[in-house]
Amino acid sequence: AKENGKNKWQIFDSKMKEIVERNLNVERYLRKAIDRNEFSLSYQPQFHTITNKMRGFEVLLRWDNDELGGNVEPVEFIRVAENSGFINEIGEWVIRSACKKLEYLWNNYFDDFIISVNISPIQLMQHNFIDLIESIISQYSILPEMLEFEITESVFIESYDQARINLEKIKKMGIKISLDDFGTGYSSLSYLNNLPIDSLKIDRTFVSDVSKGIFKETMLESIIILAHKLGLDVIAEGVETRDQLFSVRKFNCDFAQGFHFSEPISESDLDDYLKHKGYK
Ligand code: C2E
Ligand code: CA
Ligand code: CA
Ligand code: CA
Repeated sequence: AKENGKNKWQIFDSKMKEIVERNLNVERYLRKAIDRNEFSLSYQPQFHTITNKMRGFEVLLRWDNDELGGNVEPVEFIRVAENSGFINEIGEWVIRSACKKLEYLWNNYFDDFIISVNISPIQLMQHNFIDLIESIISQYSILPEMLEFEITESVFIESYDQARINLEKIKKMGIKISLDDFGTGYSSLSYLNNLPIDSLKIDRTFVSDVSKGIFKETMLESIIILAHKLGLDVIAEGVETRDQLFSVRKFNCDFAQGFHFSEPISESDLDDYLKHKGYK
């Protein structure tokens, strides 16, 4: 369709300009987001597929900025944060806030659960990352065993050895390590065997497509069998329906997470959710 008689190059130009401006604004406001208190965390529960017992929560970062029109999607601002280097500062804020919440949840609700934090490859490569984690953990009354870091395979593309060294130190501290988005991107089966991983999260594309044919089913089943042979727990992501839950359960997937159980829960709703679930 013609836009006020503009030719397609003019339209292209103005679209490009819009994108560039948006990126610059995201970067500009991201710089101030911590000081302006615009970040918050949401918590999405994970459940055992058979007992329905809660395993814990994945922590998901939320950013509300008025100048950018309210809520900005993590997929948009995390990329900008990674490209501009803010991700380290933001990631530290996330870990600190998650540990604080972990302490609160442990004191008030649970004995036995896990808080999962997404860690960007850039964060993991920081030279002082291990010191930072040790220092944060010592500031709260929590056990490292209650903490899990979710990492993606992209971390091994850039610097396999450095990633591996830091992961081994993290593991030694007692923190659990989960391989996120498994089955997408650069999946190499050798990672599963050569890295100190405790669990893997099967990407939601496998879960949502599971009813679409025997190939997807076979893939899903095979990944789970392989993971179990290597002693890993398996978590299915993006479980949206009862049928999807039944499918992953049929293949002995240990845990599931997704809209079928709950959307990510805001900090302010978390107590109500836990009370409603009968935890207190
Ligand atoms: P992810 O780690 O794969 O997180 C799961 C994403 O799937 C979340 O999106 C979650 O809201 C969404 N989700 C959960 N259940 C379902 C479902 O049943 N169906 C569908 N369609 N989606 C579901 P969100 O919160 O927008 O986060 C997107 C990505 O941003 C995350 O993907 C993660 O890569 C990144 N991210 C979020 N928070 C952080 C953070 O604190 N640090 C870092 N480095 N990355 C983060
Ligand atoms: Ca606001
Ligand atoms: Ca994740
Ligand atoms: Ca994921």
